[in-house]
Parts: sequence; C-alpha cells; structure tokens
Amino acid sequence: MNNYKYIGWGLAGLLIIIGIIVFSNRSSDSRLSNQPLNNQASDSPQTEADVNRMEFAGFNPKFRFSAEISEDLAVEYVPEIESLNLYEKDGDGDLRERSRIFIRYFEASQFLTLTTVDILQRNETEIHGHAAVEYEIRKKPGVANFPSQPSWRNEQHKLTDIRFSQNSPTTFYVFAHNPEYSENEFENFLDSLAFHNDQAGLKQPIDRANERVTKKPFGLYVEPGNSPVSPEKFTGFHNAVDYEILPGEENTDVAVYAICGGSLRQKRSTSGYGGLIIQDCEIEGQNVTILYGHVRLSSVTKNPGNYILPGEQIAVLGNGFSTETDDERKHLHLGIRKGVSTDIAGYVSTQSELNNWLDFRTYQPN
Ligand SMILES: [Zn+2]
Repeated sequence: MNNYKYIGWGLAGLLIIIGIIVFSNRSSDSRLSNQPLNNQASDSPQTEADVNRMEFAGFNPKFRFSAEISEDLAVEYVPEIESLNLYEKDGDGDLRERSRIFIRYFEASQFLTLTTVDILQRNETEIHGHAAVEYEIRKKPGVANFPSQPSWRNEQHKLTDIRFSQNSPTTFYVFAHNPEYSENEFENFLDSLAFHNDQAGLKQPIDRANERVTKKPFGLYVEPGNSPVSPEKFTGFHNAVDYEILPGEENTDVAVYAICGGSLRQKRSTSGYGGLIIQDCEIEGQNVTILYGHVRLSSVTKNPGNYILPGEQIAVLGNGFSTETDDERKHLHLGIRKGVSTDIAGYVSTQSELNNWLDFRTYQPN
C-alpha cells in the first residue's frame, strides 16, 4: 500500500512541475507557443488557445502569417529555395517526399505564373479579404524537375496564390498541395491563415490590456489642470492609448508585446517618452508606424531591421518617474500613425489631426 502512496506523491510532484513549466511559458516571452526555434518546430508546452497554431515568420520573416496545422503534420524549412514544406510526421521516406503542402513566395505587383507550367484551370477568389487565385497546373513536357521540391510538384496539382497586401510590389504566397492530400484538410489550412496585416493577426500589447485603459484613451483632450494625471505637462488631444500598471506592478517587470508583425525601425530615448520603440507594420492594407512609449530600452533585444512577430515580447515598461519614462508614471503609450511616418507626437492640437492616427481599441486583437 505504501508504494501507492509514493506513486501518488510522485505524480503530484510531476503535476506541479508541469504546472510550473506551463505557467512560466505563458508568462514569459513565448506567447507564441508554437513558434519555431532554430528552424525546428518547437515541442514546448502549448497554451490551449494556440494548440497547433504555427507562426511561419519564425522560419523566415518573408512568411508573414500563422496558421493551424493538423497534428499529423510538421514543418521543414528549405533554405536553398526559401520554402516551407509541411510534411507528414509519421510517414516513410525523406521529409520532402512526405510533403503535403509546399509554400513558396514571390515579390511582384500582380499574380504571376511560371512559363515552365501549363495552366489547366484558373479561378480568381478571395481569402480573408486577400485577393487569391486558385490554379491547377502541370509542368510543361521537357522542362527539368524543380530542384529541392517534392516530386509531386513536377506532376499535375493544385495551388492557391494569395496576395499579402494591396501595396505594389507586394509578397505573393504560393500554397501548393499534394494531390494525395485531402482537399478538405487543405481548405481548413487556408481558412486558418492569419496574415500579419489582418485583424486576426493582431495581438494585445500587454497582458489584461482592457483593464488598463483607465486614464487616457484615444482622443482625450488634456491640459495642465484638466487631466486624469497630475502633474500634467502635456496639452492636446491624446493620439494614442495609455495602458496603466495594475496594483503591485510598480516594481515588477511588465512585458510589452508587439501588436503586429513588422520590422523594428528604431529604438531610442527621446523627450516626452524616455524609451521609445518604432515599428513598421501594415494593418488592414495600410502602412502604419507603431510607437511604444515609456519602455526600458535596455530590455529591447531586437535591433533596427529585425522582424518582430505579432505577440512577441519586445520590451518591459520603464521605471516610473525616471529617465526610462522621461519622468512620467509607469505606463505604456501605444500610438499608431498612419503611413510610414517620422511623426512621433503623443498629442495633437486639433481634433482633425487625430485622423492621422488609429485607435487600437477599435480592433479586436487576439
Ligand atoms: Zn499616452
């Protein structure tokens, strides 16, 4: 009987350890639980909501989307042709030949097909608001096999090209699928796509975000003597959303996450903000400049030009009333300026100037 007791305690201990691993994973910067590490699919514990959602930009930032992949598939990055191979985990033979979905990309201003293939069918469509074309193609006779690709790519098969944005040029993604792979599974995969410039690709900038907007929402007019914060040194319409700290967070690190996928443009210390991160993104087809103000610059490990995944931790909040916040209270100022802009204003003097800015709270990030 005693043996069972020991097993019982052993199990309890194991559950606690698993609990700690899951909890630390949730609260650290690995909110993208299925994000590949070292170009390998990660086997790290996953949060329930993110089960099987794969962030493909982790393999190569050209692939600016995530998708749910079924449990029997895994991902191989093919560096020589910058492609992604979704292959059957438990099949025989090499990974390339187990390929079910093969993903490529090209930069162009319009839909293109190779001159080396015959188009048997072409159908224009739309996927999550992105222009798309479904093709059935066959490599022309006498054309050499496509290098580094699975052999079914040299046979008749179907694929869907999807345009990333309305910018020209932009990126087009080619999702080809093995004729042996279920059409239904392929459709499910396409349905689950969340592009980094879509609402579905957006993430909250901070945990429990909605509870924190208690002082300065977007568009609020403030001036010294008439402001929810005191002392107030600014005057004008607040062109951003302020996220406050919660009780007990004064002296703890509060993580700040990228709301969208895009390159870090700048990180610097500047008047009014202290630490400021500027990121370039596209939201719903338009270029935007994201400002994360009052952050601790020494916590920012990414450098200008680095691609930041949506939901990736980029910084922690600066200490209140220090140079890290330019003597402001500890909080996050999240500004979204339309266009690729050098405007880093935190306030504007007229209501009409607010039209140059977006209110992040009008979106429903994940
Ligand atoms: Zn603010």
